[in-house]
Amino acid sequence: MISKSNIIDRFTSYVTIDTESNPESETTPSTKKQWDLATKLADELKVMGMAEVEIDENAYVMASLPTNVAHKVPVIGFVSHFDTSPDFTGKGVKPQIVEDYDGKDIILNEDLDIVLSPDYFEDLLQYKGQTLITTDGTTLLGADDKAGITEIMTAMEYLINNPEIPHGKIRVCFTPDEEIGRGAHKFDVEKFGADWAYTMDGSQIGELEYENFNAASAKITISGKIVHPGYAKDKMINSMYIAQDFINSLPRMETPEHTEDRQGFFHLTQINGKVDETVLQYIIRDHDKNHFAARKEMIEDLAAEINSQHAREAVKIEIKDQYFNMKEKVEPVMHIVDIAEEAMKAVKVTPIIKPIRGGTDGSQLSYMGLPCPNIFAGGHNFHGRYEYVPVESMIKAVEVIVKIAEITSEKYKD
Ligand SMILES: [Zn+2]
Repeated sequence: MISKSNIIDRFTSYVTIDTESNPESETTPSTKKQWDLATKLADELKVMGMAEVEIDENAYVMASLPTNVAHKVPVIGFVSHFDTSPDFTGKGVKPQIVEDYDGKDIILNEDLDIVLSPDYFEDLLQYKGQTLITTDGTTLLGADDKAGITEIMTAMEYLINNPEIPHGKIRVCFTPDEEIGRGAHKFDVEKFGADWAYTMDGSQIGELEYENFNAASAKITISGKIVHPGYAKDKMINSMYIAQDFINSLPRMETPEHTEDRQGFFHLTQINGKVDETVLQYIIRDHDKNHFAARKEMIEDLAAEINSQHAREAVKIEIKDQYFNMKEKVEPVMHIVDIAEEAMKAVKVTPIIKPIRGGTDGSQLSYMGLPCPNIFAGGHNFHGRYEYVPVESMIKAVEVIVKIAEITSEKYKD
């Protein structure tokens, strides 16, 4: 079957290439170094025998595995991203292999006294006896999402080497800049030409996601009036007090730290205030479309109410939609989730279906016409030094990809 050492070697060859993205940059990819991995992946796809291998001017890598059956099968795609998060350095990644994990503390770095402990990260205990790949405590690992790339590459190689497994045409795409929210921005959905796709970008084994937040940002600009404090009576308007009223008028318990599952929130991310002007930055999140609209309305109403108490427009609001819940686009084609679920069960992975409290490239792609649920890639503790991935989870993800291809082909046989 799929060899552990092949997975480890391939994964290591990807994570040791620094591909950190940069939100300050305006180019695509946002950092030149992402080309290093993009070109390597394109070369490997050619060597392994994939067709239509292309790398475009923005470093999106696409390739095809032609169908090996006579009947008509929908074209399915698999997508992952090769950049790593700017939250933590991805330079000089030195993966450590922990074989036959014993369920105890893992010393990531003796000199710096950095320990990956199941006392704090209890998920570790479900991988007792497995092979874990960790960092050396000084960088992130990049399993997000080089585990996904490793899995897609290995699955394509496996299908090429095992032509008796029936499958339709399969498209793969590796994107830059997902971590800065732009992975889908220059994704050519038409050129990709798939009927649906899966991002291999989830966390623990079994995750299958097709619901995410509806998301908007709100910038609240409150203007006051600055006057010498000694002569301020009935003249000064302190914008910071108006801001305080504004903040206190939103439901205090509907914030990230008080909500879970499908509960939405207002999140105050920043305050910049002086007497003359205060700017509040919020993000608004809700899985439910109507609740999402109601939250935006609540902000508007509140601004209108405060303005009605002042002689002039004290509060200005700017609300921008960021992304939407993919559920709306996936539900009409629910069989694409069912196939993934069936594939997981067929390879003895228990599906964990839950709403994402965030967004994914898949949600943007779904609204661009490519319905795209998200499947586990296997890693934990993304974007930091405690990131790790069990090799066994990566192997299961490869099996899930292969099974999805097979099941899809079988389903369309007549
Ligand atoms: Zn990711």
